[in-house]
Amino acid sequence: MESKYAINSLFPEELKNWMIQIGESAFRAKQLFHFFHKEQLSEIEKATVFPKQFIEKIRKEKMDKIVLWKRVDSKKDNTKKYLFKLQDNHYIESVYLDNQGSHSTLCLSTQVGCRMGCHFCASTKQAFIRGLTSAEILLQVYEIERDLNCKVNNIVLMGIGEPFDNYEAVVRFLKLFHHPDGHHMSYRNMTVSTCGLVDEILKFSLEDIPLNLTISLHSAFDKDRRLIMPIAKKYSIFQILNACDVYFQRTGRRISFEYTLIHDVNDTMRDINQLVKLFKNKSMHINLIPLNEIDEYNKQSPNTDYIKNFQQELIRQGINATIRKSQGADIQGACGQLRGKETKGEDIIEINRNN
Ligand code: SF4
Repeated sequence: MESKYAINSLFPEELKNWMIQIGESAFRAKQLFHFFHKEQLSEIEKATVFPKQFIEKIRKEKMDKIVLWKRVDSKKDNTKKYLFKLQDNHYIESVYLDNQGSHSTLCLSTQVGCRMGCHFCASTKQAFIRGLTSAEILLQVYEIERDLNCKVNNIVLMGIGEPFDNYEAVVRFLKLFHHPDGHHMSYRNMTVSTCGLVDEILKFSLEDIPLNLTISLHSAFDKDRRLIMPIAKKYSIFQILNACDVYFQRTGRRISFEYTLIHDVNDTMRDINQLVKLFKNKSMHINLIPLNEIDEYNKQSPNTDYIKNFQQELIRQGINATIRKSQGADIQGACGQLRGKETKGEDIIEINRNN
């Protein structure tokens, strides 16, 4: 087939056109989509629903696969970090977060490496290789659901990579994942986190995908933000906030802001006052994240009491602020710690799938 996409990244309409081209019945498209996205299978050889001849034709086509290589379980909470091996021998990581059994969230990767260069983030310390395909993003969910024998309630694109730097594949993934004949997750249960790619935020506001958008802010001053996030040299906070206003007007979805608290970098009264200046009278939400330490960034998080006081001061001044509960730090699976290679640590259970 002449397509830049693997067949498990195609919509039913695209599969249907292809079936017609290769002289197969159109209903096979529906069956194939069901096989990939409802049954969540990719070993076409094992599909009993298809005749042998049809399977032979499909086997020759490009189909993305990922291999569950290793799972590491936290002993402190029910967080599980997954390492997946891709067909070109690169690795990515995803994290399963269990919120006291009531609902579960998967944090998914969208790229192999990240070229955004945020100083505090492990994902950018390895070389940037490529964006993931839509199927490779989907397969992270399917593999984890199969491994845990469950259906997850939410997904967040906050793993390795900047989702909007892989715009086309991410949008295709979101639409496939929402498709009524596939997993059919509501957009309200999906979150995309961006470091603030203004052009893509504006483009995304026209996609008719009303999900939760989160902006990684991390400083309320452009000058300070440029010191920790190179993308701030391209887009100012003013431009980001304007793009967020447009996104809200077009989708009706409110936007939240992530603010990683780094001691002596962005945790002073001056920072609080600037946040208040930016967010006063805007119904936007700030999620404070204690810095999760990595070897390559020699900074610490403020202590718990300090963080609580930071939050209380924001609230006192009329800002809607919460503190994100850190999960998975003992297995290097917390925010900013994913890096797509094998990790070791104390207090962990490792389940190797490759032996
Ligand atoms: S925080 Fe996000 S955008 Fe920044 S380097 Fe890490 S993965 Fe990339």
